[in-house]
Amino acid sequence: VPDSADAVLEGLDPEQRAVATALQGPVCVLAGAGTGKTRAITHRIAYGVRAGILQPSSVLAVTFTNRAAGEMRGRLRQLGAVGVQARTFHSAALRQLQYFWPKAIGGSLPRLVDRKIQLVADAAVACRIRLDRGELRDVTAEIEWSKVTQTVPADYAAAAAKAGRESPRDPAEIAQLYSAYEDLKRERAVIDFEDVLLLTVAVLQDRHDIAEQVRAQYQHFVVDEYQDVSPLQQRLLELWLGERENLCVVGDASQTIYSFTGATPDHLLDFRTRHPGATVVKLVRDYRSTPQVVGLANGLLAQARGRAAEHRLELVSQRAAGAEPVFTEYADEPAEAEGAARRIRELIDAGVPASEIAVLFRTNAQSETYEQALADAGVPYQLRGAERFFDRPEVRKAGIALRGAARFGGNDPLLDDAPDLPSQVRAVLSGEGWTTQPPAGSGAVRERWESLAALVHLAQDFAAARPGATLADLVAELDERAGAQHAPTVQGVTLASLHSAKGLEWDAVFLVGVAEGMMPITYAKTDEQIEEERRLLYVGITRAREHLHLSWALSRSPGGRPNRRPSRFLHGLRPGSHAAAGRGGAVGAVGAGGVERGPFGAASASNVPSPRRGQRSPARCRVCGRTLTDAGEMKLMRCEDCPTDMDEGLYERLRE
Ligand code: ATP
Ligand code: MG
Repeated sequence: VPDSADAVLEGLDPEQRAVATALQGPVCVLAGAGTGKTRAITHRIAYGVRAGILQPSSVLAVTFTNRAAGEMRGRLRQLGAVGVQARTFHSAALRQLQYFWPKAIGGSLPRLVDRKIQLVADAAVACRIRLDRGELRDVTAEIEWSKVTQTVPADYAAAAAKAGRESPRDPAEIAQLYSAYEDLKRERAVIDFEDVLLLTVAVLQDRHDIAEQVRAQYQHFVVDEYQDVSPLQQRLLELWLGERENLCVVGDASQTIYSFTGATPDHLLDFRTRHPGATVVKLVRDYRSTPQVVGLANGLLAQARGRAAEHRLELVSQRAAGAEPVFTEYADEPAEAEGAARRIRELIDAGVPASEIAVLFRTNAQSETYEQALADAGVPYQLRGAERFFDRPEVRKAGIALRGAARFGGNDPLLDDAPDLPSQVRAVLSGEGWTTQPPAGSGAVRERWESLAALVHLAQDFAAARPGATLADLVAELDERAGAQHAPTVQGVTLASLHSAKGLEWDAVFLVGVAEGMMPITYAKTDEQIEEERRLLYVGITRAREHLHLSWALSRSPGGRPNRRPSRFLHGLRPGSHAAAGRGGAVGAVGAGGVERGPFGAASASNVPSPRRGQRSPARCRVCGRTLTDAGEMKLMRCEDCPTDMDEGLYERLRE
């Protein structure tokens, strides 16, 4: 922990320091990937708190994912600043809504619907529209998209056409289903994930007294990844701020990758117009990546078009030279996955920790092939989001039961606000089938029991530390801990979609499936959509500190028709493509059969046809890890019962 406020500023360059010390008035940081935007705002908050200028509880830092929020809280703790709220828009809104609902609306906040797809199915029955399972999911995604873009049922058809969405059914039917779904929700007194932001905005808009209370609580706002703020999130931010301008936003227009939620980099790029007195800081020094990686990122952006591209800033790497990025063409997807797994094995053997390696793909459906290949190579891996304590299904289920009990406790003599909190927890858990004595044997049953026992211990410690605490206090504490839990316990290779990798970094990054049809993805048709795909690749490239591998496969399966081509975005960037011709020996096509070539043509011997695959490992839910058998669930990589994984899950799902 730095010993003074000034010591917090050490390790920042002059521009970053300017951001960290400009604690009054609007501040906007426009900068490329890896230039220390997140670091600058984290140090800014820590500096303000340590210098006594910012009251920790009056600061609200908004990040894009729960993981980023957890990381920021961890970093703030290390810098000696505790008690700052770092949350996603969604979790900040949910917390406020829970708090203000009784006063604004009366009663407690309706339950968050946990089987949304069932609700859509019921809406279909009500509308007498037959939907198969696949259609049910697609319609659900359309409803989610409509809500995040604030499209009402009557406007769905026009809005979907304008956005180029391929409707799974007649748009009029979807509008009808959407409307019936909203009715059912109201009837059953439940809300969905998207309602959280919509309702918070509505309450703050209508109730000035409540808005004033929120404003009295929060005095300083910091927003990371501001280029991806949606209109609804922007509105919420404005309501939080009121007339004040104590706001600091950071972003990179070239990393706008969520425009399907209505996000545009305009809020970022027009910041100075909207806030004439704003301090605008640009950062160009890239501290994350080697000159080779940065060179590739700059080269990619040089071909970009559109408003975001006009504002791009050439990055300058601050790091020593490293390895050239490696481009590899494979005959088929399994061979590509095996190639990646083999190289990962080599890196691990050479001393790179598995936790410092990531495989990034365009769609979650791609993960299974890589899971299989990594498992075959004996490499530990983790899918983003899975396995953590609060993510375990039994812990989630217990959480839902505790929340219910905290709300309706008054009706149960068992659960009245008795001072002995742990026994209430035991009572709730025994209602869920938990026994005080552990089950015999080891295995999954025992593991589940252990998780719940850990929860009881947690309640005991909490009750001891806070005499008189209620079940509701405990639930709030558990929510807080679930959000803060970030460091993955399994130190494996990360498998993640490009969308969920934003803001993160690894020593070695494998960008896989860099082929036409995947990047850009087939349904990207308009120029804007294609540009967004290019930015997605930019986000992927800039996650790498040292080693960057890009690969693609010529056909989907072994022996399949080689009907794929490398992504158009690589044109001019990889050896053998137009502009780079003459750089090395790798000019020209690389044969099928898994020949790998480095950028300078050094082919490594891997002309091994992919072996016949045995039993494939089962697909697993990326929230709870359960084995999936249903084709629709496999497509989503999540079981139907698993609640959407907050912001990340929502966006990924909408995207696919
Ligand atoms: P992205 O656009 O991907 O979110 P970013 O601009 O937020 O990137 P950070 O994640 O804050 O960048 O920083 C990138 C890396 O560079 C981190 O490892 C960070 O610790 C390091 N870094 C940033 N600034 C400095 C600095 N002044 N000195 C040393 N390292 C730095
Ligand atoms: Mg960042």
